[in-house]
Amino acid sequence: MSNPVRVQIIEDDDGMLRALRVNLQARGYEVEVAADGATGITMLSRNPVDLVILDLGLPDIDGVDVITGLRAWSSVPVLVLSARQGDADKVQALDAGADDYLTKPFSIEELLARMRACLRRAITVETSAPIVHTEAFTIDLQHMKAIRAGADVHLTRLEWGIVETLVRNPDRLITGRQLLTQVWGPAYVDATHYLRVYMMQVRKKLEADPSNPRHFITEAGFGYRFVP
Ligand code: CA
Repeated sequence: MSNPVRVQIIEDDDGMLRALRVNLQARGYEVEVAADGATGITMLSRNPVDLVILDLGLPDIDGVDVITGLRAWSSVPVLVLSARQGDADKVQALDAGADDYLTKPFSIEELLARMRACLRRAITVETSAPIVHTEAFTIDLQHMKAIRAGADVHLTRLEWGIVETLVRNPDRLITGRQLLTQVWGPAYVDATHYLRVYMMQVRKKLEADPSNPRHFITEAGFGYRFVP
């Protein structure tokens, strides 16, 4: 048997904590639990895990501060849970170094899919498949080509930058700031209007129905997600 994937859950809601533990253990994950931020950080410092599931609303330390503290010494993937409907805390969490977020209530299947995406990202940053197929188009990362209906699609340098960044991170939320920094450069980190315009162009060129995209999904207020 291969080593089980180890997950640290930091969550103060007792019912949620139990439900997560039972469901993840049933799927073969090894689960550690902490009911507050200080305990969670202490456990992580003593016993590294493969993934952290972190509730943002904790009784002692704000979840965003837990991430900031953790990121000083660890690059472990962090999946944030938030009960709040407001967006500010999720944006703060992503900026502080969280990898993705889920808003409560969420289905266990959605949680598992996000966990897999976070773990895949952590393991395969350098080794993602050179050719990615969707039902609408194919992206050849090695040869920097986009193909639709058997024909090459011309993408500008910036359009390609967006496509490549998203396609290399399937199912994973990429924030607007991450995309702008990656494709345009750090000076453009707040130029979100560029992103909207270029994303529209990318969809026109690649999506079967650009006004109803299936693969380049907008997560309003947060960023974008490529769904293969
Ligand atoms: Ca809570």
